[in-house]
Amino acid sequence: MTILATQSDSVRAGSGTWQQHMKWAVRDLDSLLERLNLPPDLNLGADAVRQFPVFVPLPLLGRMIPGDVNDPLLRQVLPVRSEDQSPSRFSLDPLGESQATRTPGLLQKYAGRVLLVTTGACAVHCRYCFRRHFAYDAAPTSFAQWEPAITQIAADESIEEVILSGGDPLTIVDSQLGALVARLKQIRHLRRLRIHTRLPIMIPQRVTKQLVEIFDQSQLQIIVVIHANHANELDEAVASALRMFLKVGAILLNQTVLLRGINDEANPLIGLSKRLLECRVLPYYLHQLDPVIGTSHFEVPQDRGLALIEQMRTALPGYAVPRYVKEFEGEPSKTVWS
Ligand code: SF4
Repeated sequence: MTILATQSDSVRAGSGTWQQHMKWAVRDLDSLLERLNLPPDLNLGADAVRQFPVFVPLPLLGRMIPGDVNDPLLRQVLPVRSEDQSPSRFSLDPLGESQATRTPGLLQKYAGRVLLVTTGACAVHCRYCFRRHFAYDAAPTSFAQWEPAITQIAADESIEEVILSGGDPLTIVDSQLGALVARLKQIRHLRRLRIHTRLPIMIPQRVTKQLVEIFDQSQLQIIVVIHANHANELDEAVASALRMFLKVGAILLNQTVLLRGINDEANPLIGLSKRLLECRVLPYYLHQLDPVIGTSHFEVPQDRGLALIEQMRTALPGYAVPRYVKEFEGEPSKTVWS
């Protein structure tokens, strides 16, 4: 159990509504360092902040260890100077998502499923984000703007699954999200609705009875894919939020990004899988970092990743070992490395 720098942060982290937490989130580097009792002269990535601002919700801040600049949760959100130097093989759109766009906000990379970029907003800014340069300005952000994408989904009977992504789709207010899900429910060939989200981890208060009812009433199979990189992210409040999805029959999966200095050792990865199982979440993917500009300091070599998977196999039951995958632009599926 960690202690936030101020009593008021500590009280707020465990209370409040999710909308309040979006407002209360730490948005500047100096404040982040001060609240974690870290020296202000660490000379971190001020330029990086201008490109991709700091955004750290209090519940996540409350799980960080004050005074530890290497805390694995802090490292995910801490802008550093090396973000300014990227090798030439790193690019703005390494997955070719602009080429996979069918209509603004609707991406199709693989057969049978499409991805709806519902919003550019997130409950945290992860420094390694593969969409940190995504053209969110061109993506729809309201129900009326989603309609062309929904019309395309309705006209294509090969689509069985819609993935709500972003940004984070759970930053959308219930009234809009409910209207979107109700609209998707009317499309008879849809079978599954997948939600890619970090909100249950970043702000567990987001998972309310009203929210899970929206999905429960959809009559689609609901798959919630969370994104945790370290067991310390998954405290009891998160576990409790995830149980609410389980109560309405959702399948819970996790995807992790392999990140240097955060989870590139066997013990953190094994610990994460064990904690996920305690939360009734299956480890699904361990992603090789997507080479997006500003993230190269997180990259772990492939042979290191393969060795880590081998170590996980000897320590865990098979169902607790995620697939180690890499996405390549234009490929019909992710490439499974192990
Ligand atoms: S929550 Fe997801 S989309 Fe948002 S910044 Fe993090 S990795 Fe990127």
